[in-house]
Amino acid sequence: NHAFLLSDRPEGEPDRDDFDLIEREVPDPGPGEAVVRTLFLSVDPYMRGRMDAGESYADPWAVGEPLQGAVVGEVVAESGTGLEEGAVVAGPGEWAEYVAVSGHRLQPVDPDVAPISTSLGVLGMPGRTAYFGVREIAKPRAGDTVVVTGAAGAVGSAAGQIAALQGANVVGFAGSDRKVEVVEEEFGFDAGINYATTDDYAGAIDEVAPDGVDVYFDNVGGPITDAVFSRLALDARVAVCGQISQYNAEEAPTGPRKLGTLIEKRASVEGFLVSDFQPRFEEATRTISAWVESGVLQYRETVVEDIENAPDAFLGLFSGENVGKQLVRVGER
Ligand code: NDP
Repeated sequence: NHAFLLSDRPEGEPDRDDFDLIEREVPDPGPGEAVVRTLFLSVDPYMRGRMDAGESYADPWAVGEPLQGAVVGEVVAESGTGLEEGAVVAGPGEWAEYVAVSGHRLQPVDPDVAPISTSLGVLGMPGRTAYFGVREIAKPRAGDTVVVTGAAGAVGSAAGQIAALQGANVVGFAGSDRKVEVVEEEFGFDAGINYATTDDYAGAIDEVAPDGVDVYFDNVGGPITDAVFSRLALDARVAVCGQISQYNAEEAPTGPRKLGTLIEKRASVEGFLVSDFQPRFEEATRTISAWVESGVLQYRETVVEDIENAPDAFLGLFSGENVGKQLVRVGER
């Protein structure tokens, strides 16, 4: 039973040495617990915050302790959970091949409905983030121009498509020509901007959205966000979902730097956290499943093989290795 521990708290950019692979016993289930054999592990940008000691919305990981993360896997043993051995479940796990989890924290996953990996992506937390972020925070109207950053990623790709379903024109920022092609061709955005080949982000927005930006769904922050702020339209709304460009910063950046625009444009900015919408998760999953099934919502996954490569999969989020949801295949079914 291989598992990863946090060996060290990184300063700035984390590296492979911050992760320690150990071998440990397969756990026995305690009362009310199931032992899950991990099939897929989710690596997510918010985990960078858990590597730090400081307080955040997710508790810091402890140095020398296993890393936590969402998994989908197979029940191999249980004690009083009502779950059957062999059942596929998703829930909070660890970066490990086997993990004991409280039965009530596990959700059954029906492998006949969709590939089980989607329970960590489009049908899981990232999909719900896009759903609530767009529908409850960004609230695009038909004809609005919506800009999404991290557009080829798990949340961004879904957010742009959900905004398009509301009748908006959608522009996505992504970090390579290949990603821009996927954003335009597969995810159906009206335009994609490769931020890696231009410094003039505002000029690139002007070309595709000459009337300005009505809604901004921000996953990355930093200089791209400065540029989008400078192009906000009157009464614009900004949904702050993530700031991945800042997660490895050693010092808090000054700014946001374009707040004057908010005055001029009477714009509003709102941050949100998907977990606040917990009571409505079932509604989100039901709606997103129907969209996926009917083909109006496309998704992508990038799968890194083998638990020992989990740190690389995680670190790759910060260099943009992934298209769509980044997963680690830990076991075969
Ligand atoms: P993604 O699948 O989008 O992966 C991260 C992507 O971010 C990379 O592929 C990369 O794409 C891009 N990126 C990395 N560094 C930079 C940078 N410096 N500038 C611009 N882009 C960068 O991850 P998720 O979909 O899981 O998460 C997206 C965002 O949403 C994150 O900020 C995350 O923290 C946030 N989030 C917020 C939630 C909430 O409840 N508020 C819940 C879930 C996620 P590229 O090649 O285009 O650079």
